[in-house]
Amino acid sequence: MAEYLASIFGTEKDKVNCSFYFKIGACRHGERCSRLHNKPTFSQTILLQNTYQNPQSAAQVADGTSSAISDVEAQEHYDRFFEDVFLELEEKYGEIEEMNVCDNLGGPPCWQCLCQVPL
Ligand SMILES: [Zn+2]
Repeated sequence: MAEYLASIFGTEKDKVNCSFYFKIGACRHGERCSRLHNKPTFSQTILLQNTYQNPQSAAQVADGTSSAISDVEAQEHYDRFFEDVFLELEEKYGEIEEMNVCDNLGGPPCWQCLCQVPL
């Protein structure tokens, strides 16, 4: 039995642990998920949830039409965000090994920022 449970841990067959959270560290149900979100006790990766708001997405959500912000302006907005967050995290945690900003393409606009710092 223990061997079977170990073999399905974090898979879609696992009725206890959330497979989405296990795979990508996020789940659309958030804290209301019926399955367990096993958070690591320590990690060199910092997750900053909902830290970036894409101005093009925000404009579309607000009035249902296409964005009035050009791709160039959106890129400049993103570059300023990235530099601000990168420099602040570097000041707080030391040298940053890698930083990624991710969009949620399968659900509501929800940008995550993942940052890897030295242990
Ligand atoms: Zn979940």
